[in-house]
Amino acid sequence: MHINDAVFLEDLCPKFRLRQWRKSIHRFTGKSCIYCGKPSESIDHVLPRSQGGLSTTENCVPACLSCNGDKSDENALYWYRRQKFYDPRRAMAIRAWLEGDLRLAIRLLQWANPNFKVSNQNLEKKQSRYKAA
Ligand SMILES: [Zn+2]
Repeated sequence: MHINDAVFLEDLCPKFRLRQWRKSIHRFTGKSCIYCGKPSESIDHVLPRSQGGLSTTENCVPACLSCNGDKSDENALYWYRRQKFYDPRRAMAIRAWLEGDLRLAIRLLQWANPNFKVSNQNLEKKQSRYKAA
């Protein structure tokens, strides 16, 4: 078989890739909301899609439904600053995340929440690899 004939499951099935990508986003924060630390049930676009935000790892953070719904189409950092659970370490983590520095973002989240445990294994490999269609 010629190498070009190789078919990858991810290419064959974009839905599968999207699901894997979503899972990897939640895994970065140990399935906790990047804003408040509650269990993350959704993926939030930091820069809303309505304002041209892309479905890339850098622009998508794990969020609980409450934060995601409340934030709506607002700029995440402005919105976050007004919340009573505001934590400057988390704000820094969000900024690092936006810049694509997931390793720093995760370190800041761990600092904000010492109970937060996540495996840093394969972080570089996963980083920015999956992009939604
Ligand atoms: Zn939340």
